[in-house]
Amino acid sequence: MFKVNYSKMQNKSQNPQQIFISEEEKTINWEIVQKQFDKTFGREVYNSWLKDVSLIKEFNDYIILGVPTRFFRDWIVSRYLDKILELIKGLKKSIIRIEFKIVEDAKSPDIENLKADAIKNITEIKDSVLNYNRLNPNLTFENFVQGKSNEIALSYSKRVCEDISRYNPLYIYGGVGLGKTHLLNAIGLKLQENNKVMFISAERFMYHFIKSIKKNDMVNFKDFFRKSSIFIIDDIQFIRGKESLQEEFFHTFNSLLDKGSQIIISADRPPTKLDRVQERIKSRLSGGLIVDIDTPDFELKKSILNKKIHELEAQFQENIKINEEIIDFMARESKTNVRELLGVLNRVIAFSRIHKQLLTIDECKKILKDVLNKARVVTVDKIQNIVSRYYDITLTEMLSQRRSRPLARPRQIAMYLSKKMTTRSLPEIGRRFANRDHTTVIHAVKTISKLSESDEEMKKNLLQIKDILLEE
Ligand code: ADP
Ligand code: MG
Repeated sequence: MFKVNYSKMQNKSQNPQQIFISEEEKTINWEIVQKQFDKTFGREVYNSWLKDVSLIKEFNDYIILGVPTRFFRDWIVSRYLDKILELIKGLKKSIIRIEFKIVEDAKSPDIENLKADAIKNITEIKDSVLNYNRLNPNLTFENFVQGKSNEIALSYSKRVCEDISRYNPLYIYGGVGLGKTHLLNAIGLKLQENNKVMFISAERFMYHFIKSIKKNDMVNFKDFFRKSSIFIIDDIQFIRGKESLQEEFFHTFNSLLDKGSQIIISADRPPTKLDRVQERIKSRLSGGLIVDIDTPDFELKKSILNKKIHELEAQFQENIKINEEIIDFMARESKTNVRELLGVLNRVIAFSRIHKQLLTIDECKKILKDVLNKARVVTVDKIQNIVSRYYDITLTEMLSQRRSRPLARPRQIAMYLSKKMTTRSLPEIGRRFANRDHTTVIHAVKTISKLSESDEEMKKNLLQIKDILLEE
């Protein structure tokens, strides 16, 4: 990576700045960056990890930072890199990547202490990590309810179990709470009898990765993950922006495919939409079969509710007093995902158990008010629609290239809200606004941020729009 430019500079001249003067442009004040690190990450993280990061070199589109060890680098890359890049972009927007150089003799803080610190941080998640390969016996194919939104994903999940390596990798994607982990788990349970199954989330994969780096034990790490014949990895989007993790993942992936292991992957988006993931990985991920799970329709939601109620009745030998009307109400009102739907059901059941009576719709509304209001998903589409409506312009006008103030302002507001209220990246937002460049989005975000501080009218409008977004 950085080696190319950097070593060239070092070899050719005592005074490298002069040769590369056209590439270089010094505008970043490192002291200011450090102050922002402190503010953004908090004192503890700053002192442990970021205080000793130095700015080695600055180019137009990237910078090289110095860190004391590889361990340091990997730790920072895996945890803080996204945020660091964002901060630095805030000061110099042309920067698109950050590279690291290990500065061996840099004033390095007490590494042993830091390692101890790292372990301390890790132990907090250790309990869940210990479960890395434990499949949940309740998440089976039998209790996965089929509907229009998931039937393809379900059918291929089953086929993979019968015809190992035919669809390799099988890539299942969809929003949160739609049943991805359930399906992955069901596949694992099914194949466990005759195969060596490894089931792990990308996040835990990373935990093992960091731990092995720290213990200087990469050989075991590689071995451990490469000996499975079925490798199931959940929430792969987690590797976005984490370069060293991607590197390791790529090698694990290749060696598994080479020896004919079946790989099953889940993610919250299709491979092509995994920004900040290396192209070669995306292409690997797309090399098998890609299926998606969509939000459940009314029918599926009803079936899931009925099935759950029956299961609970059987399990607790009780008669749950929930009538058809209430089931319809829950299925209609819970709009986000299956996880929320089940949460809604649990509340209603808890209430009816206490009161031992049939609930009325009004009671139901009351019990569910906060659940149903808080869980609204805000998407870029929704923002565009609602902002257009609020300012009485059409969606076509919102997305058009016309720049008159009555159109440009709402457009900027919609971009601003997309950045603030969704997890979409700047380029993704740009694309959704008729393929605009991400710099246009940055400009919009800045403009509206400023206005929202100085302009009372703007402040009020933004609040109202946010309210509508969260209510509808
Ligand atoms: P994801 O991994 O996509 O975020 P999960 O697999 O964790 O979602 O699903 C959330 C909850 O909804 C789990 O309790 C799961 O068992 C349940 N669930 C999702 N889809 C279905 C379905 N089609 N039938 C039965 N339960 C489902
Ligand atoms: Mg999941």
